Amino acid sequence: MMPITRRGIEILLDAPDRKDYVVSAYVDLTVKDGFNTFVEQELKNQARAVAEALAGADARKALEANLEAVRRAVRGHNNGAKGLAVFASEARGLNHVVPLDFPVENLLVLDDEPFVLPLLERWYGEPNYLIAVIDSRHLHLFEAHSGVPESVKGIEREVDVDIQRDKPRFNYKKRFAQTAHERLHGLDDDGFFKQAVEAIGARWKGADFAGLILLGPAEVTAALRRLLPKDLENAVVDEAPQAMTSRPEDVADDVERVMDQWRTDRERTLLDELRERWKESHLVADGPTDVLDALQQGRATQVIVGRRRDIPGARCADCGYRFGAPVQTCPYCQGPCRTTNAVQSILRMALRHKTPLHLFPRNLPNDPLERAGGVAALLRAEANWAPDAATAQATQGR
Ligand SMILES: [Zn+2]
Repeated sequence: MMPITRRGIEILLDAPDRKDYVVSAYVDLTVKDGFNTFVEQELKNQARAVAEALAGADARKALEANLEAVRRAVRGHNNGAKGLAVFASEARGLNHVVPLDFPVENLLVLDDEPFVLPLLERWYGEPNYLIAVIDSRHLHLFEAHSGVPESVKGIEREVDVDIQRDKPRFNYKKRFAQTAHERLHGLDDDGFFKQAVEAIGARWKGADFAGLILLGPAEVTAALRRLLPKDLENAVVDEAPQAMTSRPEDVADDVERVMDQWRTDRERTLLDELRERWKESHLVADGPTDVLDALQQGRATQVIVGRRRDIPGARCADCGYRFGAPVQTCPYCQGPCRTTNAVQSILRMALRHKTPLHLFPRNLPNDPLERAGGVAALLRAEANWAPDAATAQATQGR
């Protein structure tokens, strides 16, 4: 199963000025024979909704033209996927299928932009980790997607055996001597550790990991950490004791604990920072309108989304500006606006600008972002202009 990648989402965001319709379909593949029922039912519902909408004829035509692509994708899906996301638009030449390793609810959306909120929510809410289990003689790498570790293929457990085979000069006697050396002087000069650093770096490069977890004896992980390049060293989210293993189930507990701890720490740190800034009214944007302004003006350094995912917003069909309220007419260019999901707008914009974003889970009993209207952002600079009265009026209330 291919994990969701940044690129996989980004190609869905690359048509900012298109006004033609896109069908976005999420299909639950875990339900036996669910799809036929789903398609028939959803078609009926959509047809009804579309008939009631203003752009009825165009929308109906687009829906019918693109549903066949959805059916085809479902018929042709490979086994193993728990769900499928299909984005189809004949008018744009878009036909993008994303197999999902997590269950989704059946959903069909017809809009002028792909409905990617479930993908983005997964991307931000369930980050991927690279896990290195290491001792003085072995390295084993795992990847955890959504907290489920998998052994990484192609990385031999006994890396030092490979080194010996590849480099005959690294003989048994030398290794024995080196082991003694390790005990006395640490592991920094060890060829095996350099090899380990390279293996970790190769796996890290180009992938979408939120952090690196180092497991092993404390003195070994500390030594490895010292040898990591700066970016990888900064990416280490935890070090913990762990005996050498190649079995994912042996590190599952560690990963879960580390992820929970990391999440808890991160949430506490972010909320502490937020409360400080709220107290001082300093470099903080509250609510979807201000957060979207900050993102669009490149002023946001961290976005924090509470438990809400259904904040209504709008997007100008002419200039493309996004609003955190259901505006009808764009206050900047007087263009007509379409209703959007402001949370999706914020998530996709944060992804595009590579702005860090934290999502609190949907099922929290209390929303820590309630006083901010569901979302806030830490800023590097205050707005250098104030929205005029018309903007303020247009984007408030309603
Ligand atoms: Zn506009």
